[in-house]
Amino acid sequence: MEFNQQQSQHPKSAEERAAILANPGFGDYFTDHTAVIDWTAGENGVGGQWHDARIEPYGPIALDPAASVLHYGQEIFEGLKAYRHADGSVWTFRPYANAARLNKSAARLALPQLDQDAFVESLRRIVAIDQQWVPTGDGEALYLRPFMIATEAFLGVRAARKVSYRVIASPAGNYFGGELKPVGIWVTHAYARAGRGGTGAAKCGGNYAASLIAQLEAEENGCKQVLFLDPFNNEAVEELGGMNVFFVTSAGKLMTPALTGTILEGVTRSSIIQLAKDRGMEVEERTITLDEWRQGIASGDIAEVFACGTAAVITPIGLLKNGEETIGDPDAVAGEVTMALRAELLGIQTGTVEDRHGWLERLA
Ligand SMILES: *Cc1c(COP(=O)(O)O)cnc(C)c1O
Repeated sequence: MEFNQQQSQHPKSAEERAAILANPGFGDYFTDHTAVIDWTAGENGVGGQWHDARIEPYGPIALDPAASVLHYGQEIFEGLKAYRHADGSVWTFRPYANAARLNKSAARLALPQLDQDAFVESLRRIVAIDQQWVPTGDGEALYLRPFMIATEAFLGVRAARKVSYRVIASPAGNYFGGELKPVGIWVTHAYARAGRGGTGAAKCGGNYAASLIAQLEAEENGCKQVLFLDPFNNEAVEELGGMNVFFVTSAGKLMTPALTGTILEGVTRSSIIQLAKDRGMEVEERTITLDEWRQGIASGDIAEVFACGTAAVITPIGLLKNGEETIGDPDAVAGEVTMALRAELLGIQTGTVEDRHGWLERLA
């Protein structure tokens, strides 16, 4: 796909960029450009095509107030990172997995399929023009946020016939900030993030909107993140609002909730499963109940718990708060297997550990 390129006339100054890169945070600042591809359905909404691929200056977008994304939430997104390697080159991690997942989400939200090569090309183009925004610090990266929105101005309820795909980019430091200390997680019994036949397996904004109240509940209870249980029996561990969950047993086995249709299949999750298998670890994807977690911690059978996702990579979980009950140790230190998997994954992404599986894709 050919991208037209319109250079920003007002890019941030080198000084301003340097100040931002010195302390990027997460998702607070954006680069100078954005990639856009529009889609228009064919006659009577049948078929359709992508057109007008372009790089534009970063800035507010004009949307009709009746645009269906604003009313019915027809939106999906992706998240991946661009890492600068020691030789200055810029790489991303398994972008075709994100492209495939975007299309899976698109199918669920009745949005159009986007060619996987066009997806990867859009990342390449944004990184090419905004290369100076890729940080060089330890654990830092340029976070790439592709998303697709229904732009048709129409209040009837049906799949929109005008859609826009965009990519924005944001320099990112350590997601939870500072050192890697195990976090406390709150388990919500009041809220679910997904239901049978729902959108739990799709990466859509609506899932996040529905999870925010539970996140508030977690914060009110002194926790950083919220854990959701299965919506059917309120028993099986599913995932956090935006991260998958893993357990390491004292026998060195890795366990994670099976993909049942209500859990988002993380690229980090599948990469960790592969890296664990490479180490000769047994990996189980199955139902893990809250009770198994409780008993596993009490008996010592569960040695480590961690969460994972692109933004935070791997974050150790020190304790789980379940109402008045506390499972785990508030002073826990990060587990050995957790840290080893994290170091290996980060090493592959940043080019210091061999990329045995061909997961890296050069962007610039
Ligand atoms: C994005 C996301 C994840 C993590 O996926 P990665 O591909 O590993 O970044 C996990 N859970 C939910 C709900 C998500 O939206």
